Amino acid sequence: MALKPVTNRARAVDDLKCKRRRMVAILNRLGAEFELWRRYTNDPFLLLVGTVLSQNTNWRNTRAAYNRLIAKFRTPEQLARSEIREIQKLIKPAGLYRVKSKRLKELARIVLERYHGNLSTLLRKPPEEARQELLSLPGIGYKTADVLLVFGAGRDVLPIDTHIFRISKRLGFASPKANYEEVRSKLEELTPSGRRGEAHVLLIQHGRRYCFARNPLCDECPINDLCPIGIRRAKHAQL
Ligand code: SF4
Repeated sequence: MALKPVTNRARAVDDLKCKRRRMVAILNRLGAEFELWRRYTNDPFLLLVGTVLSQNTNWRNTRAAYNRLIAKFRTPEQLARSEIREIQKLIKPAGLYRVKSKRLKELARIVLERYHGNLSTLLRKPPEEARQELLSLPGIGYKTADVLLVFGAGRDVLPIDTHIFRISKRLGFASPKANYEEVRSKLEELTPSGRRGEAHVLLIQHGRRYCFARNPLCDECPINDLCPIGIRRAKHAQL
């Protein structure tokens, strides 16, 4: 019996399925690499504490400091009333403990005074408004704001930043000439709903840690076997 000719449409469907599978494998791999806070908590204040502790240190040190701190102080009230020296002692494993202890105490005070100890009202605001308000808090950058919006407020959005824009093209998920809007719609098509916020956070972390704009660390990259560039480099190295 003659085989049916493979149509362009069938090829496109196969290609889409294949890219979706690759996207899921990438998210699983990066999730294991960057350890997600949501495995620990979805309490917005504790997420805030955790992400402040994680600045400029690795996950192991962050986790040690986080566990020590929240064993004693886990609410904005408790942290705002605590002695700065005691916070320093507890969070020492995370490094920069003088700066971080001041920042945590100040954040606890603001959350208490401005939001009555509960960040949920802030997180329920429209996404961009909530993001801008978070960014106005001391020591809160884009990463912390996004972690809170995704894991504290359950936002399932995949906004494209410069890291995601670059990585999507390197991974072959978007064409080299695609603009921001085209990259966003491609990635949303490939990422299962319910994992878009996670994809946003993980791809940014990946861009900051491995997939730099210049000289990406392809040899050490945890997804180099899932990336056309990583695969090409590995083949080249074998020649
Ligand atoms: S293999 Fe290189 S280009 Fe590909 S995702 Fe990893 S770091 Fe980026």
